[in-house]
Amino acid sequence: MKVPFIDILRFENGFYETVTQKAAELIKNGHFVGGPVVGQFETALKDYTKTAFALGCANGTDAIQLALRAAGVKKNDKVLLPDMTFWATFESVVNVGAVPYTLDVSRETLHLTVASVKEGIEKFKPQALILVHLYGWACPETVEIRKLCKDSNVILIEDCAQAIGTKINNESLIAGAMAATTSFYPAKVLGASGDAGGVFFKEAQVAKDCQILINHGRTGHYDHGMIGWNSRLGAYEAMFMLESLKHLDAKLASRRVVCERYRKEIKNPALKFIGPASNVWENGYLSVAVMDPTSRPAFIEYLKKHEIGYGTVYPGAMSEQPGATGHIGGKISHGHADWVAKSVINLPCFAYMKQEEVDFVIKTVNDYK
Ligand SMILES: *Cc1c(COP(=O)(O)O)cnc(C)c1O
Repeated sequence: MKVPFIDILRFENGFYETVTQKAAELIKNGHFVGGPVVGQFETALKDYTKTAFALGCANGTDAIQLALRAAGVKKNDKVLLPDMTFWATFESVVNVGAVPYTLDVSRETLHLTVASVKEGIEKFKPQALILVHLYGWACPETVEIRKLCKDSNVILIEDCAQAIGTKINNESLIAGAMAATTSFYPAKVLGASGDAGGVFFKEAQVAKDCQILINHGRTGHYDHGMIGWNSRLGAYEAMFMLESLKHLDAKLASRRVVCERYRKEIKNPALKFIGPASNVWENGYLSVAVMDPTSRPAFIEYLKKHEIGYGTVYPGAMSEQPGATGHIGGKISHGHADWVAKSVINLPCFAYMKQEEVDFVIKTVNDYK
């Protein structure tokens, strides 16, 4: 049996028919960029995440740049971020004219810790931190890090590109953030059928500034109060996601079962599964295991031979990327991010994965010697 790492075409019954019919209506009504559906999606997103303000934008990278700008990060400001994340987090800091500083992550939780953030604040005296929540989990020390940033006057942006629907201490992760961002890239948990992103805020004024940045700094049709850019969410993507959002709980439930089954039923000692901390409720974005870096290549060959897809999210630390040269302001490393990069392995996980597919992955991995 062939099991892909991800299949983004497992739609609910009737979903394809609904969106194609609604797409035809958008075209007939000339609703291409704006129109009522964008506002409807933003309201649905706000309700789903229980945030005060939710805005759609062009993609998850723009979302981070918009949040940094709206929250007041300026040229040459120092911004801390974890060394283990997707490159967009690093890139966004540079794109707004600020300077990225990377912090190491924990080998146990694979996320930042309050101790690592404290060390970074003391050493670099930054203006902001991007806390990244990976794998559909939340950084287990989120609440403490939020408090530390508040007490230290450090602007906190939370990159929730992988964490829509994730909960911490029984509450929506995104709702607790002063500023959070997400991505609706098709392979994310709530995917559009093209690129799209979302920005979330607690405070009205910051949300208002962000809305202006999204649309050319516009304060009137030809009045421009800021240097923004065009990061508007299109009507078609808003409609597609508005329909998809109706099924999001079912999608998350189906993914979560897969992650839980792997952790419980894969007994091969070559792999050590890591899950979310006990105060975190995952959205099932990714299954995460670590293995001895020297045996990972052989295991990957075994998966390929049995036609099982896999991921290594992420195979390199940010500070080690060639693109970081000349941009990174500093780093604190204990070698953990590099170790994670060499050790991590992700097994197939996606919405509506079939039971026999999960069974096959579990059996095949358990049979590996
Ligand atoms: C996907 C992702 C992004 C970027 O989102 P795009 O929509 O692809 O621009 C940023 N940060 C993290 C952690 C991501 O996983």
